[in-house]
Amino acid sequence: MISSVDLNKIFVQSLKSDLLMSKSITAAVLRIDELHPVISGNKWFKLKYYLEDAVRKGFGTIVTFGGAYSNHIAATAFACKEARLKSVGIIRGEEPANLSHTLQQASLDGMQLIFVSRNDFKEEENIKAKFFSPDWYWINTGGYGMNGAKGAAEIFNWIDDSYTHILCATGTGTMMAGLIKAAKKHQTVIGINSMKNKNLIDDIKNLLTIEELNKNFILLNEYHFGGFAKHPVELINFMKDVWQQYQLPTDIVYTSKLLFATVDLIEKNYFEANSKLMIIHSGGLQGNLSLPLNSLPF
Ligand SMILES: *Cc1c(COP(=O)(O)O)cnc(C)c1O
Repeated sequence: MISSVDLNKIFVQSLKSDLLMSKSITAAVLRIDELHPVISGNKWFKLKYYLEDAVRKGFGTIVTFGGAYSNHIAATAFACKEARLKSVGIIRGEEPANLSHTLQQASLDGMQLIFVSRNDFKEEENIKAKFFSPDWYWINTGGYGMNGAKGAAEIFNWIDDSYTHILCATGTGTMMAGLIKAAKKHQTVIGINSMKNKNLIDDIKNLLTIEELNKNFILLNEYHFGGFAKHPVELINFMKDVWQQYQLPTDIVYTSKLLFATVDLIEKNYFEANSKLMIIHSGGLQGNLSLPLNSLPF
């Protein structure tokens, strides 16, 4: 349905460093960010079954929610353009004088933007009722839900049984739920929460069966760097270091915090010797365009 998505571009990038050597740990990054420049990373996996469902049921318009820098909004707009579906984005906050890069791009991709105050935005059900239209197919913020998790589970097609730990960033927890679904019993899925004051564990558990609840997973809430949209200079400097050391580009919201957490956990001996880590690069690099020009070397 989306012809420009190229799953053959996904690859495993192994990391080499003195730290990993000294702790006898193997680590690699799954570069699903590479599959498409706009429908980047996990967003494609989370969207695909919703779009299929909408088309099968004969809907002509996809409507979803997000903030001004939302990777999900950018991805949905582009995917709908290619799938010849109309798209509507319900955007949190009053309409700004200047649209963010993300919203400009979404608008260019044909998405109709509707701005809703922060207060009203909290009640997705009220918004759905207010804007009800029989031709609109609604997708939750971030693609949260069963179809999103089902798609995200397919990320595991690139992860073999030899890995002991799978590490991912979390926003809504949909991707993490999908990874837990696909993980084997001997593997542990570790989520790094990029948000402050939002414990997602119940949202994640709600997407799992009783059997899946017995798998090994943990959500770590200490690596948010001040909150969802916060990117202190310490984090930016870390991103520069990661680029220098591994030629690995990260984004300011999710994957930078994920990499930081991974290094921190390794340093603190969280993983036993001979652990084999797979770190999911879930994409989101378009979000870096909200930084001043030349803030990053990639
Ligand atoms: C959206 C996003 C996430 C969060 O995914 P959830 O399924 O909502 O937890 C993680 N990483 C990146 C790069 C994202 O764009």
